[in-house]
Amino acid sequence: MPPKRKAPASVGYADSAGASTNKRSARSKPDSLRQTTLNPVSPSRPPSEASSKPRLAAAPDSKVPNNDTSNKNNNSANGTNGLSDTQFDHSRVEERYGIVQRQFYPPEMSNERCAMYNNNELPRPIEVLEAALRETGDARSQIPVGEAVVHWFKRDLRLNDNRALHLAAAKAKSKNVPLICMFIVSPQDYQAHLTSPARVDFELRTLAIMKRDLAALDIPLYITSIDKRKRIPEHIMQLCEQWGARHLYCNIEYEVDELRREAMMTRKCLERGIAFTAVHDDIVVPPGALKTGQGKQYAVYSPWFRAWIAHVHKHPDLLEAFEAPGRNPTSTREKFKEVFEIVIPAAPPNKSLSDEEKKRFEHLWPAGEHEALMRLDRFLSERIGKYKDTRNFPAANSTATVSVHHSAGTLAARTSVRRARDVNNTKKLDGGNLGIAGWISEVAWRDFYKHVLAHWPYIWQVLKKRRFTMHKPFKYEYTNIEWEYNDAHFDAWCTGRTGFPIVDAAMRQLNHMGYMHNRCRMIVASFLAKDLLIDWRMGEIYFMEHLIDGDFASNNGGWGFSASTGVDPQPYFRIFNPLLQSEKFDPEGEYIRKWVEELADVKGKAIHDPYGRGAGDVAKRNGYPKPIVDHKKCRERALARYKAGIGRETA
Ligand SMILES: Cc1cc2nc3c(=O)[nH]c(=O)nc-3n(C[C@H](O)[C@H](O)[C@H](O)COP(=O)(O)OP(=O)(O)OC[C@H]3O[C@@H](n4cnc5c(N)ncnc54)[C@H](O)[C@@H]3O)c2cc1C
Repeated sequence: MPPKRKAPASVGYADSAGASTNKRSARSKPDSLRQTTLNPVSPSRPPSEASSKPRLAAAPDSKVPNNDTSNKNNNSANGTNGLSDTQFDHSRVEERYGIVQRQFYPPEMSNERCAMYNNNELPRPIEVLEAALRETGDARSQIPVGEAVVHWFKRDLRLNDNRALHLAAAKAKSKNVPLICMFIVSPQDYQAHLTSPARVDFELRTLAIMKRDLAALDIPLYITSIDKRKRIPEHIMQLCEQWGARHLYCNIEYEVDELRREAMMTRKCLERGIAFTAVHDDIVVPPGALKTGQGKQYAVYSPWFRAWIAHVHKHPDLLEAFEAPGRNPTSTREKFKEVFEIVIPAAPPNKSLSDEEKKRFEHLWPAGEHEALMRLDRFLSERIGKYKDTRNFPAANSTATVSVHHSAGTLAARTSVRRARDVNNTKKLDGGNLGIAGWISEVAWRDFYKHVLAHWPYIWQVLKKRRFTMHKPFKYEYTNIEWEYNDAHFDAWCTGRTGFPIVDAAMRQLNHMGYMHNRCRMIVASFLAKDLLIDWRMGEIYFMEHLIDGDFASNNGGWGFSASTGVDPQPYFRIFNPLLQSEKFDPEGEYIRKWVEELADVKGKAIHDPYGRGAGDVAKRNGYPKPIVDHKKCRERALARYKAGIGRETA
C-alpha cells in the first residue's frame, strides 16, 4: 500500500480502485518528473491563436447524482483493495498531469477491477440502462400521452433521420398534442468531457439553425444553460411536469456518465409518472448485437466488421430513415410563446472563442444538418470512387470531412452508410466500388469503438463521487509501462515545433482547424507515445480539447491503436518512422509546406528532413527547430520500455 498522503481539500471521495496493486502506482516518480517542473504547459496555437492549456482547468463542482446501481460492487471492492481518499497517493504523476480529472473522477482503477468487468462480475453501465428500460417497459407504455411530448436533444442535432425525435413526434401526433424540443447547455459536461471550444461553438451555431427549422413547424426549442450537471435531470423532469408532458424521449449516448444518468432517469421519471424512453440511434448496429462464436464481444475489427456487414444485410431496416417531425398544432405558438422566444445562450466562459477564432471556425465548419448533407452528397458524387487510393494522403482533400457532423449528430452514421450503399451499383455495403466499400468500413470503425466503450467501460473516466475510477488502457496490463512526463517535449508536440515536419504540420493543422487528417492523427499519436514515450492519455486529452470532431470512443480508440494499448492495436513493436511516413504519404511535401510556413521555400525531398538533407540553413533562418529527439534511439527506448512494462516480448 502506498504511503499515506494528505488529499487535496477539494476532493473528498474514497478510492476503491485498489491502485496499490498496479506496479506503476507503487513506483516512485519517473526520472523526468524529478528533473522537470510540474507547471502546466501552455502551448500557443500557431499561427495566431491565443494559448490554450493542454492540462485541465479546475471545474466548479465535483458533486454528482448518486445513481449508480452498481454501488454494491464498489463497496465490495472497497473492502478488498480500496483505499480511503486520505490513503491514496495523490502525488501520482498521472494525477499531477491532469490525466485523471480528479475534480470529477476518482483515481485510476486497478487492473483487478478491470478484470471484474471482463469476467462479467460487474454490471456494465449499458446493462444497467437496458435493465432499467426493460423493467419499466410495461409501466411506461401505460402512461397516457399527456398534454405535450418532449424530445431532449444531446448529440443528435438534426431533424431528419433522428430516431428518438421521430418517436416523440409520432407520440405527439397520436393525440394531436405539441412536440417540444429541448437542449441543455452544461458547462460542467463540457469540462468533464473535455469538449473543445470550437465544438461548443459548432453546437451553438447548429442550435440556431435547428431553432429556425423547428419554429417553421411550430415546434419550440427550449434551451437553457445549467451550471451544475447534477441538476439537469431534475430540471428536465420539472419542465415536463410544468408542460404537462408525460413522455420524454432521447437517443442513447454510450459514455459511462450518460448511460448511468439515463438509467437513473428512466426510474426516477417513472416515479413521477413520466415515461422516459432512450433509444439507440448514434450507431448503425446497437452495441451487444454482434457476438463471436463464443458469445463474446469482438476485440478485433476485421471479424467484427464481417459480422457487422452480415447483420446489416440481414436487418436492412437498420438503415431505414426516420422521417422528420411534422407540423405542431397551431395553438402551440400561443401556448409556448415564451419558449419560442428563448435566446440561445453564449458559450460558457470555460469554452468560449475569440472573435477571430469564431469567424475562422464558422468559415471552416459551417454548422447544421443541411450543410452536413451537402458535404456528404458532394463527397459521394465527386470523391468516394477514388477514396481507397487517395484516403491516406493528407494533401489530397479526398476524405468526406464529415466527422464533426457524425460526432455532433448533425449527420447520422446511418444516413451516411445508407446513402453510400445507394450509390454503389451492387446496393450492398461490401463489394462493388472499392472506394465506397472502403468508406463504409471507415464509418463502421466508429460503431466498433462505441461497441468497445459500451462493453469495456473502464476505458472511460467516470464522473462519480466515492466510485471506482476508469480511464484505463483497454489492455490494462499496459498500465505498467513507464511513461515520460517531459514538459518541453510535450509543449513542442502541442505547438508543432518538434523538428519533424510531418508531425509539426499535422499539429498545426489541428491547432488551426480543430481537425487533422486521419493518417496524420496516427503519425502524431505514434510519435508522442513511442518516440517521446509520453503518456498517450495526455495526447488523447489534447486532441479532445482541440478537435471539433472530438468523440470519446473514436479518439480513445485511435490513441489506443497508435500507442498499442488499445483494442485491436498496432503491435507495440511497430513504430512509425516519421520520415518514412512523410515520404510515403506527403511525397511532394505539399501538406508540410501548407502548414509549416518556415519550410515553404524548401525544395524537393529536403522538406521531409531539412536539417538532415541540406536545407538546414533555410530552416534555421526561418526559425524552424532541429529535431528534438533521435528517432532511432527513441525506437530502442520505446521497445525496451514496452517490453519491461508488459513483462513480455510479444504484443
Ligand atoms: C489518434 C486518433 C484520434 C482520433 N480521434 C477522433 C475523434 O475524436 N473523433 C472522430 O470522429 N474521429 C477520430 N479519429 C478517426 C479519424 O481520424 C477521423 O474520424 C477522420 O479523420 C475524420 O475525417 P473524415 O470525416 O474526412 O473521414 P473519412 O475518411 O471520410 O471517414 C468517414 C467517417 O468515418 C468515421 N471514421 C473514419 N475513420 C475512423 C476511425 N479510425 N475511427 C472512428 N471513426 C472513423 C468518421 O465518422 C468519419 O467522418 C481519430 C483517429 C486517430 C488515429
